[in-house]
Amino acid sequence: MRPVQPEVFLVARPAIDYEQMAAYLREVGGENWLERLDRGDLDDAQNLAEFAGKVCYRAWEPGLNPNVRRVRNDHAEYLANILKSAHGSVLEHASFTFVLHNISRVFSHEIVRHRPGTAVSQESLRFVRLDDIPFWFPDWARDDPELMKRATALLDQMEELQRWMADHFGLDDAGVPFHEKKHKTSFMRRLAPDGVATGMVWTANIRTLRHTIEARTDPGAEEEIRLVFGKIAELMRAEAPLLFGDYQVQDGAWVPQYRKV
Ligand SMILES: Cc1cc2nc3c(=O)[nH]c(=O)nc-3n(C[C@H](O)[C@H](O)[C@H](O)COP(=O)(O)OP(=O)(O)OC[C@H]3O[C@@H](n4cnc5c(N)ncnc54)[C@H](O)[C@@H]3O)c2cc1C
Repeated sequence: MRPVQPEVFLVARPAIDYEQMAAYLREVGGENWLERLDRGDLDDAQNLAEFAGKVCYRAWEPGLNPNVRRVRNDHAEYLANILKSAHGSVLEHASFTFVLHNISRVFSHEIVRHRPGTAVSQESLRFVRLDDIPFWFPDWARDDPELMKRATALLDQMEELQRWMADHFGLDDAGVPFHEKKHKTSFMRRLAPDGVATGMVWTANIRTLRHTIEARTDPGAEEEIRLVFGKIAELMRAEAPLLFGDYQVQDGAWVPQYRKV
């Protein structure tokens, strides 16, 4: 058994092509809006959300749409109004990609229940053989010596069984066809615990992130998923503070001021 900790790596975020955006804005008479943008490195997701919202009403300048006599020029105020009015579809344009490392199959079962606005690529234990059994123990479990003794002994035994089966099935013998390795590896994973640490790439848009952060940091949510979503929430508040600044954090639960935008 190899003790591990679940970790989150934010590996991709939106990047605006400002030249293309400017070219479009010149077409529609909205280039002044672009000059007002904060072009800080971390603000592309927020700029994209505002841009998508302004396209809807041609709200670059008063008068471009005769029905629009007043426009919100302040970036923060504009995005706050998006959250307040639950105009969350514009938040779907900005997606973030995370590597969720050393998460269990318990975790992966739960996260895939969130469907709209997500993409998942999960480590295949049909292809990737378990040479050892990486496993996360929460602090309270680590503090229980009898539990740790029994659990570690069981995991070591399961690990030994994995190695025995690989040898027994001759998986490393010369000439074993790949489909045979896959067949047996798929069987062998059934004898690993649900808690075995594995990994996935998970992509979600901002609308989905807001919903999942709330649901999965709730006190009723599972311990590991709460831990991971707490990390995701911290990352997102740093990435897009105007779109994740309305949460109050109470004992690890991220409670938004505006729900289900
Ligand atoms: C604390 C907690 C405990 C849970 N316990 C259990 C359990 O015991 N057993 C169990 O099976 N699951 C359980 N779940 C999973 C839960 O039932 C949901 O499947 C999961 O949280 C996905 O969230 P969601 O339903 O909001 O859907 P998401 O896929 O995240 O979708 C987001 C929103 O889009 C809308 N939407 C999505 N799909 C549809 C659709 N097909 N039709 C209409 N509207 C749609 C809904 O408004 C939905 O809330 C639990 C979840 C949590 C957070």
